[in-house]
Amino acid sequence: MGFQLSSREYKSQNSTVQVGAITVGSSNLVVMAGPCTVEDENSLLQTALSVKASGAHILRGGAFKTRTAPDSLQGFGETALRMLAKAKATTGMPIVTEITDSHDLALIGQYADIIQIGARNMQNTALLKAVGKCKYPVLLKRGFSNTIDEWLAAADYIFAGGNEQIILCERGIRTYENSTRFSLDILSIPVVKSRSHLPIIVDPSHAAGRREFVSAASKAAIAAGADGLLIEVNYNPETAEVDGRQTITTAQFDELMPQLRTMACALGREL
Ligand code: PEP
Ligand code: MN
Repeated sequence: MGFQLSSREYKSQNSTVQVGAITVGSSNLVVMAGPCTVEDENSLLQTALSVKASGAHILRGGAFKTRTAPDSLQGFGETALRMLAKAKATTGMPIVTEITDSHDLALIGQYADIIQIGARNMQNTALLKAVGKCKYPVLLKRGFSNTIDEWLAAADYIFAGGNEQIILCERGIRTYENSTRFSLDILSIPVVKSRSHLPIIVDPSHAAGRREFVSAASKAAIAAGADGLLIEVNYNPETAEVDGRQTITTAQFDELMPQLRTMACALGREL
């Protein structure tokens, strides 16, 4: 159904995505961590230094956000991108940040090492075509009401433009269950692995919606064969305006990483 370039039939070997010295999709797991939204420079720097010390590879932080409501914080745009650049200069960590409008591609490209397409934009075909023509790796989140095949068809839009550097990200889908924010579709990982050559990571934070469930979701993702994680972490999540409730503290992240490392080893992978 509808996807070809992302399929195992098109390419039987696993694809990897190179981000500087980091390879996504190899036996080494890749962890991306940081605040949902870049809100202030000091907490971004504190968070970046801490997650780096705990072993995170890539720093996440939103500058342009896709919020459900127009009166919610939409991100601080270029001001936030400059803060990310400072954190990158201080820590050496590559940056993953979201794009919401193809007009911002040149600007975001100056700062980002990976360009994130949010769940709400998974089928924004104009945006997919735009990033398909750029030279940056793309993190394509699954839309929360989309099937796996629709997600892979969305990846095909990027692939078809000539950009093969695509990382898929499962972040939970909408079901009738409301104890968590979304339902983490854990079996999407082996399903994607069977149907596609693209690497897949998991965002446990948006699925969980509450920080106390992030650890379990992260471990489940690694156990199911994910190539890495995208976790919302903040030095002081209580002060965060966006997604603080689901954001783990730097201390909790530091506790989680060795557990994930032990699991990775048991599965013949490294972290
Ligand atoms: C995010 O990563 O902060 C985000 C907005 O995620 P999603 O697009 O999965 O809702
Ligand atoms: Mn978020």
